[in-house]
Amino acid sequence: MADAPARAVVAALGADGAEVRFVGGCVRDVLAGRAVKDVDLATPDPPDRVVALLARAGLKAVPTGLAHGTITAVAGGRGFEVTTLRRDVRTFGRHAEVAFTDDWRADAARRDFTFNAMSASPDGDLHDYFGGCEDLAAGRVRFVGTPEQRIAEDYLRILRYFRFLAHFGREAPDPDALAAARAAAPELRRLSGERIRNELLKLLAAPDPLPALTAMQGVGVLAIVLPEAGGLERLAALTRIDDGDGLRRLAVLVTRDPGEVAERLRLANVDRDRLGLGGDIGPAATIQALRRRLYRDGPVAVVDALLASWAERIADGSSEADRDGYRRLLDDAGSWTRPGFPLRGSDAIRLGVPQGPRVSALMKALEAWWIDGDFPTDRAACLAELGRRIRGET
Ligand code: ATP
Ligand code: MG
Repeated sequence: MADAPARAVVAALGADGAEVRFVGGCVRDVLAGRAVKDVDLATPDPPDRVVALLARAGLKAVPTGLAHGTITAVAGGRGFEVTTLRRDVRTFGRHAEVAFTDDWRADAARRDFTFNAMSASPDGDLHDYFGGCEDLAAGRVRFVGTPEQRIAEDYLRILRYFRFLAHFGREAPDPDALAAARAAAPELRRLSGERIRNELLKLLAAPDPLPALTAMQGVGVLAIVLPEAGGLERLAALTRIDDGDGLRRLAVLVTRDPGEVAERLRLANVDRDRLGLGGDIGPAATIQALRRRLYRDGPVAVVDALLASWAERIADGSSEADRDGYRRLLDDAGSWTRPGFPLRGSDAIRLGVPQGPRVSALMKALEAWWIDGDFPTDRAACLAELGRRIRGET
């Protein structure tokens, strides 16, 4: 509310007297004392009015979801989603048919959980129609309305339920919500891989995702969205030593068919590679062996492999010695900078090798020699070895 760009957007939208409020996640996160990621605003004005008001104030408007009444206002280089108040007219499984309204309570009622249904006026007044503030303070994830009906309107809400449970839940999950999730779980097969992936990764990034995952397992939701999830114990161990990276947690959770998981969840290629986790690295690995792996696979893959290997041992009842070993290896991996191979193909040509496939074959062999020798920086020594190889001496 004190943020200048947000105030500029609020002032622009309210210039003709419309009531503008902060809504959804930003209100929840402020009340929970968490960092606010993005700021969403709501107004009773229809989208064309929103565009006109922003233009009048000299603010850029991007028609992000015009059909749904969402415009992104750009101020101070940041985007603010401005949505016209809506009420649900008809909902079926995934898509809600909505109508614009000027009724703030109706707009709150279509939202999923009580603590996601709050709004706040720019002067700081909280509008909490369904007891969201109290639920948030108690760590209670509660549907607005009956879980069964709200889930039947939108099956993604099953996964959102467990995601918010992971981040905000401190009470045992509501038995009605769990029963509704169990009953509707097969419908999750209708959701796209992208949507499942987004929810799973957000859930996994919670400080401790285990209680929510265990609840998902208990009602048969995990078996449907991620049947490959056999590593709950490994993941529990990982969460005690890691930095909360969601993809690494997914990799540790998945114990079979990572390729299939990547395919189904539509992972990007870089993420797909991480799902495989590479091979085990023991706590007594030498710095030379570590550097070879860093050079070959890159630091992200090596840190993933180190933490996963360590977690595996913790899950099996690790000793303190492992801890020191892995801390040392992680420090080494963290401070590693990639050495540059000191030779070029032109070096071989200068030494008389004719341009062609032999040059690249020589360079490949020499790079392997250089890696095995722990990356000597002495160019003269590398050139000497190149000379020996050209003359067929090694
Ligand atoms: P995040 O921190 O992940 O952005 P968020 O609460 O802002 O959390 P969004 O997915 O950005 O979540 O949605 C913004 C708001 O829109 C929510 O707070 C909620 O009020 C409403 N909302 C989003 N998705 C749904 C849904 N599937 N059903 C009902 N309401 C929803
Ligand atoms: Mg959001």
